[in-house]
Formats: sequence, structure tokens, C-alpha cells
Amino acid sequence: MPEFQTSPGMRDILPPESARWRRFVDVFAQVVEGAGYGQVISPLLEDLGVFQRIGDATDVVTKEMYDFVDKGGRHIALRPELTASVCRAFVQHRPATPWKVWYTGSQFRYEKPQRGRYRQFDQVGIEVLGADDPNLDVEIIALGWEFYRALGLQKVRLLLNSLGEPADRAAYVDALKAYFEANLDALSDESKITLQKNPLRVLDSKRPQDAALVAGAPKIAQFYSEGAAAHFAAVQAGLTSLGIPFTVDTKLVRGLDYYRHTTFEYQGLTLDSAQNALGGGGRYDGLVESLGGPATAGIGFALGLDRTLLACDDEGVFAPPATDVSVFVVDTTGGAEALAITTALRAVGVSADRAYENRSMKSQMKAADRSGAAYAVIIGSNEVEAGVAVVRPLRAERTVNPDGTDGDGTQSTVPRSDLIDHLKKAIS
Ligand code: AMP
Repeated sequence: MPEFQTSPGMRDILPPESARWRRFVDVFAQVVEGAGYGQVISPLLEDLGVFQRIGDATDVVTKEMYDFVDKGGRHIALRPELTASVCRAFVQHRPATPWKVWYTGSQFRYEKPQRGRYRQFDQVGIEVLGADDPNLDVEIIALGWEFYRALGLQKVRLLLNSLGEPADRAAYVDALKAYFEANLDALSDESKITLQKNPLRVLDSKRPQDAALVAGAPKIAQFYSEGAAAHFAAVQAGLTSLGIPFTVDTKLVRGLDYYRHTTFEYQGLTLDSAQNALGGGGRYDGLVESLGGPATAGIGFALGLDRTLLACDDEGVFAPPATDVSVFVVDTTGGAEALAITTALRAVGVSADRAYENRSMKSQMKAADRSGAAYAVIIGSNEVEAGVAVVRPLRAERTVNPDGTDGDGTQSTVPRSDLIDHLKKAIS
């Protein structure tokens, strides 16, 4: 075993899988840029305080942060998520509202690594700051839905809930606390601790011991003010009008103190229940304010790339894209011809590769086959002398004659002066 390996929960993403990652982000960008979202590129490091503003009720902030003091004595952290950074940026730059942005990148959480759960993982996401309109909630949820469709995923379920206005939520939290405290003996030890920090999070408990108690707990809907009920009804009506199916799940609370009104989660039905959240989000208030900005409505989601690709594998969709080159140049004269031809091909937009170290014809032809190229260009001293090159189709039966007509599928001899044009035509 080599002395150095990736540390736990960290992975190398190698080709061709890496090409799939990039395409994933491309597809996402296409979906959200088509809806007026612009990309924000945030630093990987922020002052620890930026993330602490998310609240101390989540493991993400209390237990899982990679934080350290830098050489300048600043206490900083590797970002565990991007909503806080986007809000910090909003306060710092004060863009016009509504500010519609998207992002992508790696996040870092010191979690117990397992399938679909890593210490470095990637997300794509969007946030909108400065608009409090149920139509926007619908737009955002629909964009996530559309993105999964664009990947080809079918087995995705949308869960929806509303946490009401801050006052509704506060009344509900009190009621939940009273309920769980009255039944403390039945609660798991872990949930007893959670109860002290954030009674809402007890609803998230997946422990069998808590199941009955959680099922019998008061429901948030009993506490909705008129405005909260109207907002939630408008969101549901909007989703229905777009034909997006959803399930209302009153246990979907999301941990942050800032969440209000709409919360949602996309579940991958092929994944294990502990890791089946493909992505989620909701409305939040107060985060911008707590970072020093004006009171500002916010809503967004983050979708996990790693887990979504696992779901794609399960459904057999969104395979790694082909990264094969179009042409492979086999040069038995020493390599200078290959250098000239590959450079000329690349200059006209035809991808091209070659062998190195002046290998034998046989070895170079093997490399050409492995490359996945559609054509090999073969050039030896005879061809150089005659001012020609041999073009041999490697995969397709189809070839193109120098005059542009279809060839018979066997190799052809092409004048060097026509070679680049000839290949360009053949590839297109
Ligand atoms: P969150 O920011 O916790 O709401 O997570 C949003 C999405 O990011 C989740 O639904 C997952 O798809 C993904 N995610 C969160 N934590 C991890 C992790 N440790 N490893 C892989 N994906 C993660």
C-alpha cells in the first residue's frame, strides 16, 4: 500500500468520472441561468463567525466544522455549506434585490464517512435574497425538480412543509417542548439532548424508540397564522399548477433557527433512508440581519452532487460523457509529424492525440485503438516522401474520400495539403 492515501471521507475523482461531474454542473447552470440566476464564486474559507451565525443547533456547526487559527491569528473555517457565505457576500456588496444567485463547489464536514456521506462533498445550489413571494418558492422548488428531470432521474420524491411565521414557529416549539418533556421517559437519550438544544430537531429522529412519540407530537399546522396558511396554500397551488407532485411532511423541519414558511426536500427513492436526501432547502429570515445587513427575506436550496450521482447510477441515467478524441496520429518517423498534425487539427477544433517516445507502429496502433478515436492518421517515411498521409477509420465503417464523397470504409491516402480539411469533414 502506498504511504499516502486520501484521508477518510475524501476522494480523488478521476477521468472519466470527473467529466461527469463537470457536466452535472453544466446542466445545473443551464437550468438556473435560464431563470435569471448568476453564479457566485465564494471563498473556501470564511471567518468562523460567519458559520456560527447559522445557529448552534446543528451538528454542522457544533461538531463537524473544520476550523483552525491561521498564521494571522484569525479563527477561520472551511465552509460546511454556502448559504451563510452568500448572505455574508450580500451584506458586503449590497447588490440590488431580488438577488438571484447560484453556486457550486466543495463543502467540508467532519462526518462519519459512508456511502453517500463524505467529509468533502460537492453541492450545487441557488439562493434568492430580498423577495418574499410564494411564487418564488414555487419557482425555486420547480427549478430543482426540472434539474433532476434534465439528469434523467425519475425516482425522486418531493417533500414539502411550512414552519409558519416566526411567532407560529415559536409557539409550536413551546408546544413540542412541553409535549416531549411530559413524555421524557419514553424518549431516547440522544433525543433528550436534542430536545434541550432544539425541540424541532427531535422530529428528525430516525431512532425506532422515538418513532411513536414523534408520530403523536403536535403538528405545526395547528399553529399557522392566517398569513402563514395563505403562503403555504399558495405554494401548494403553484406546484400543483405546474404539475409537480409533492407530499406534505409535517416532520420536515430543517434545523436552522432562521427557517420559516416553506421547507422542502428531494428524496432519492433508490437510496438508503439514512442518505436519501438528494437536496433540500427553504425560506429563511434573519440570517442576513445577523451578519450585519438589513432585514432581508431569503430562500434557496442545496443539492448534493455525490449523492445525486449515486441515484443516477441506480437509475442507469446520466452516464459519464464520452471524452474520446476524434483523431489519433500514428507517426513512425520520430514524432515531429505527429506534433505538426495534432497541433493543426486542434487549431481547427478537431480533438487529436498521439503516442510519444517513438514507439513501434504496432504499439502506436494499439494506443490509437485504446484512445477511442474515430480515425487514425498513419504517417511513415514513405508517406512523408510522397507528401501524403493514410487515414484509417477505427470504429465506423464510414469514410470520406478526398473529394468529399462517402468512402468504402477502408483506409484512404490523402495529400498532406488536404489532410486537415479532409479530417474536419470526416468528423463532422
Ligand atoms: P444540507 O446542506 O445539509 O441541507 O445538505 C444538502 C445536500 O447536500 C444533501 O441533501 C446531500 O445531498 C448533500 N450532503 C450533505 N452532507 C453531505 C455529506 N457529508 N456527504 C455527501 N453529501 C452531503
